[in-house]
Amino acid sequence: MTIDNDLRETLRDKLKQRRAVLVEDLRDEAVSAEGTLAVRSQRGTADDEIVDSMDAVDIAETARDASELAAVDRALQRLDTADFGVCTDCGAEIEPARLVAEPTVLRCTACQQRYEHQHHTPIGGRL
Ligand SMILES: [Zn+2]
Repeated sequence: MTIDNDLRETLRDKLKQRRAVLVEDLRDEAVSAEGTLAVRSQRGTADDEIVDSMDAVDIAETARDASELAAVDRALQRLDTADFGVCTDCGAEIEPARLVAEPTVLRCTACQQRYEHQHHTPIGGRL
């Protein structure tokens, strides 16, 4: 392991700060979702289409924040284990600079690229 205690504490701080921002965002989004529902009931049916598209954006944003929050929590749990900083795919050590830039990464650069290549296929693409 090349993760020394200084780096570990740096990453812990970054993760905790990120977590606080996400928790705040999720609270705001929950409030704005309630606001959207209030608007819907006041306006009646005329603007339903517009309100529905607003809902979709809110829901997508909330889902993204929620999944990032889960990733941050996983990283915080892994931080004190020997698994942290080790690529989940090939077992190689993840570059410390990469961890500082994105403490929730689970894979080394090569495996991440392969993973994204495999999982970012176009919708309705050929099988
Ligand atoms: Zn790897």
